[in-house]
Amino acid sequence: QKNNANEPEFLQAAQEILESLELIVEKRPDIEQNRILERFLEPERFIQFRVAWLNDKNEVQVNRGYRVQYNSAIGPYKGGIRFHPSVNASIIKFLGLEQILKNSLTTLPMGGGKGGSNFDPKGKSDAEIMRFCQAFMTELYRHIGPDTDVPAGDIGVGGREVGYLFGQYKRIRDEFTGTLTGKGLAFGGSLARTQATGYGVCYFTQEALKTMKGETFQGKTVAVSGAGNVAIYAIEKAQQLGAKVVTCSDSNGWIYDPEGIDVELLKEVKEVKRARLTEYAKERKSAEYHEKKNGEHGVWNYKVDIALPCATQNELNLDDAKALVKNGVQIVCEGANMPTTLEAAHYFIDNGIIYGPGKAANAGGVATSGLEMCQNSARLSWTFEEVDAKLKGIMEGIFHNAHDTAVKYGVKENDLLTGANIAGFEKVCNAMIAEGVF
Ligand code: NDP
Repeated sequence: QKNNANEPEFLQAAQEILESLELIVEKRPDIEQNRILERFLEPERFIQFRVAWLNDKNEVQVNRGYRVQYNSAIGPYKGGIRFHPSVNASIIKFLGLEQILKNSLTTLPMGGGKGGSNFDPKGKSDAEIMRFCQAFMTELYRHIGPDTDVPAGDIGVGGREVGYLFGQYKRIRDEFTGTLTGKGLAFGGSLARTQATGYGVCYFTQEALKTMKGETFQGKTVAVSGAGNVAIYAIEKAQQLGAKVVTCSDSNGWIYDPEGIDVELLKEVKEVKRARLTEYAKERKSAEYHEKKNGEHGVWNYKVDIALPCATQNELNLDDAKALVKNGVQIVCEGANMPTTLEAAHYFIDNGIIYGPGKAANAGGVATSGLEMCQNSARLSWTFEEVDAKLKGIMEGIFHNAHDTAVKYGVKENDLLTGANIAGFEKVCNAMIAEGVF
């Protein structure tokens, strides 16, 4: 606590994890003997650097860059890069800590890392985005590599940004390796990576519904938040599986579309035009657009069976959780990282709602990045169907691992949070003990 007092998001993530791990710490004295929890919470390395670049008016701009190389016990550091004005050390550390457990749950050999900058991509020209990415990589390149640390995208970093980052890495290092994932298909990217996180959330949700309720997506109503990469493909897959998704949002407002979100129109607005959701509402007669006021989230106030938060941290609080439960929600699975506050997560679990935390439910993105690393190492590429089938298998496996662990440790079976934390931690902990003290 006292070493990280000004890092609320990091403390929130650490508290949530430590609460769950009490159950395994009681059973395994070697965790305490090896001081694994203290070592687990302390990043192996935290890098902070200056990113100076020129805007289109040739004015010098200065931002701050970060990379946390959190834990390499089970593989090279792996985790996305976020460009958003809210990025600071606390956010990078919370994301890195979550990433360790998430990567472990995928069953692939990947350690945990995360990075980013307080750079705001909104309103920047394509040339400015390129110059910023090049400046960012001009420092980051010395810390990463295909067997050391493999970054990817996150909020504000999609295919375009990964392309510029990869181009600069290749230029400086004079090597063509899979040092970043989420690359374009022409230069080592994997089919299905763009869809992976959103599709993965739905595969996880589908397996949970089938196992715990004997149900499917067919005929269900779904609330989604966000309108970025994760949200778009969660909406697409949920609708393919027979559900109707009635909401999406961005940081200014939200859409309620009782006919179901038109995902092709949403892609056109967000991926092609890079416009706001007001554009979607203009084109779609059945859609209502609501401006966000006083920090309200909006999308959690409708009658739905399934809720998939896919925007950002702490976007679903206790009041939202109460509204969802009152409106009959059965399952909440997180596409975003830590979108649900700790008290809201407890409220879901205490009220019998199936709660799939991000580190389990959104692991499909990094899992497919792991598959991109495999393809890059072998210098070949798999078909969309092959990657999608592997993704589905991994997501089903993650659900069962979290569920079985919850049952094994005697907590409620809908408490996939405890299940995921313990299952992800155990493998990392065993590797840390086996590799000796450092
Ligand atoms: P994008 O940048 O593509 O989209 C982010 C979406 O969330 C946008 O609609 C954005 O709205 C909204 N948003 C972002 N920050 C805020 C904020 N502070 N308040 C309100 N809305 C906000 O990012 P992704 O879809 O890639 O990421 C979404 C979440 O999923 C993040 O938590 C990320 O860490 C997580 N995630 C992503 C993975 C991936 O593969 N992409 C993998 C695993 C997790 P606006 O445009 O207005 O900013």
